[in-house]
Amino acid sequence: MSYIRPSLDALEEPFWSYIQKGRLSIQRCAACGQFRHPPQPICARCSSFDDEWVEVSGQATLYSFTVVHHPVHPAIESWVPYATGVVELAEGVRMVSLITGIALDRIRVGMKLKCAFKRMAPDFQLPVFEPAAATEAA
Ligand code: ZN
Repeated sequence: MSYIRPSLDALEEPFWSYIQKGRLSIQRCAACGQFRHPPQPICARCSSFDDEWVEVSGQATLYSFTVVHHPVHPAIESWVPYATGVVELAEGVRMVSLITGIALDRIRVGMKLKCAFKRMAPDFQLPVFEPAAATEAA
């Protein structure tokens, strides 16, 4: 079975390594505490090269989304239509993710989400976001 994996570089490897352990961890500046995503080699706020990886709450707010009707790769042909969006984590950074666990016509900007994991292969999973409360999914 074919599936898509991220291309890993030294900056992104920790993010994906934690995801495979079921943990959403975000890079944070070790000098000033600024979270940043995607990972960067230097802090945009204080110019420090020192960073650390911190497990975050997984709580987020939906900032923007779209419903995809055209599969961009044969491996996800069976997914369409599906929702992908920009979520803003409680820690202040934004990330792109699938939005799951809710009917597409019920997704709303501003809704509260929580991180979950979608297994793609025995050794690989993706972070996804789903409604934080059952009332949001109803
Ligand atoms: Zn900093």
